[in-house]
Amino acid sequence: MERSGSEGKNSRRKPRAVFLLTLLVWSLLTALSAFTNYRQLEQNFFALARERGQGLFDLMEIVREWNSRHGGVYALVSERNPPNPYLHHSKRDLEAGGLHLTLINPAYMMRQVSDISDDQAGLSFHLTSLKPVRPENAPDPWEIDSLHAFERGETSRLELAGEAKEVNFRFMAPLKITQACLSCHVQQGYRLGDIRGGISVTMPAGATLATLNSEITRMFIMHGIAYLLISGLLLLLYLRTQIHFSSQEAATHMQEELILRRTQELVEANEALGRSNAELEQFAYAVSHDLQEPLRMVASYVQLLARRYSGKLDEDANTFIDFASDGAKRMQRMITDLLDYSRVQTKGEPFGPVSLAEALDLALGNLDLVISETDSRIEAERKGLPTVHGDKGQLARLLQNLIGNAIKYRDEQRQPIIGIQARRQGRFWIVSIADNGIGIEPQHFERIFRVFQRLHGQGRYEGSGIGLAICKKIVERHGGRIWVESNPGKGTAFHFTLPGSEDFGSVQAGE
Ligand code: ADP
Repeated sequence: MERSGSEGKNSRRKPRAVFLLTLLVWSLLTALSAFTNYRQLEQNFFALARERGQGLFDLMEIVREWNSRHGGVYALVSERNPPNPYLHHSKRDLEAGGLHLTLINPAYMMRQVSDISDDQAGLSFHLTSLKPVRPENAPDPWEIDSLHAFERGETSRLELAGEAKEVNFRFMAPLKITQACLSCHVQQGYRLGDIRGGISVTMPAGATLATLNSEITRMFIMHGIAYLLISGLLLLLYLRTQIHFSSQEAATHMQEELILRRTQELVEANEALGRSNAELEQFAYAVSHDLQEPLRMVASYVQLLARRYSGKLDEDANTFIDFASDGAKRMQRMITDLLDYSRVQTKGEPFGPVSLAEALDLALGNLDLVISETDSRIEAERKGLPTVHGDKGQLARLLQNLIGNAIKYRDEQRQPIIGIQARRQGRFWIVSIADNGIGIEPQHFERIFRVFQRLHGQGRYEGSGIGLAICKKIVERHGGRIWVESNPGKGTAFHFTLPGSEDFGSVQAGE
């Protein structure tokens, strides 16, 4: 019960561990996916901002190129368009048809465009270089850093600047000297393709960031929903498994209880059987013991009758006296055998290690006369005979009965040969006694082990039919079993099992 209890706990712990592990894996996967998505969204938004900045930069470049290709353009001088004080040109200001015109170079034009776009769209352009002509064109630290990066080969730069609503994307790319630029800037030492500076484009990022944030929130919500859904499903699965296990456990528990109850009943029935067996044995012992005395008296008085009245009675009377004397002798033998049978259990010796070879010698010693009278050959593999755990006297008796029968039920046509050998099978030894006698028909294999069961009449073979019943009882007392194999007309082999001597305690004496 204890074992099954811990097994039950283990079987409950297993799905819990699997559930927790799956939940952990699922949590990690969700977190990883959310993080990757977050990074992807951010990268996408930055890529878009970069593209937008690049587009504006390119447009401004085209407009500047247009201006420089024309060597600058003239526009009316106004409050918004005063002459450019930093432009040193001989024909910077012109009077034409009463109009006051001033030359607008690409940089001046860009500044003006930047002012307009700043007013209207919050977009501003800053033309800057590491060697600015105008002090306002001086680069800020980020621009200085970017200009140095362009000189190292970088093609553009993007950053997110400012905080809260004032947050902006700043994009910057280098300005390279084109053929049109050279006409004005050659005296500054520039050559075609040189980096003259850069234009930084400042674009409001608030709206873009708001979109990004809502995308991120949406993504997180979707992940959260998926996480909760799958976790819920996992939990449901886990609970179902738990319920399944619990009901299985309850069924197992019930089954175990039933088995325990049945085993208990069986033990009790066995004990009752054992008690009634013991009582029966006690009874058989008492009866056979007590019958001996009156029977002895009957036998001796019949013998006295025969002696005293010999020649004085008629022929019939003599025959009757012979019958009575013969019957009394047979009954005496049966009672002695019955007494032996009941003594197997009640008068057995305690168990100990017994050398079967020694037990065999005892048996053969008792059979010495009959062996030589019948010229029987005993072929025993003494070295192969084991030491077993048992009662030496009873084991000798067992061997004696079986060898005695092998000689008694010999075939008169041939010399009796009796083989005795043992072989190991698991924790048991199988001992076999085989003869070349008359054999037994298979239908009698069971019957011959019962008390007083004989296959032949008294006239042919002497006996009371109790020898094999005693053998069976001895073997069973030793925790083994006995059976027979036979080939009628050719021979018989009796086999019995005994536990090895190393198995002490497995069979208790008298059990
Ligand atoms: P008993 O020998 O006194 O008749 P047993 O109980 O020893 O009683 O044997 C029962 C019967 O089994 C015998 O009557 C005999 O017919 C048969 N039997 C026993 N051993 C052998 C054997 N080795 N060969 C043939 N028959 C046998």
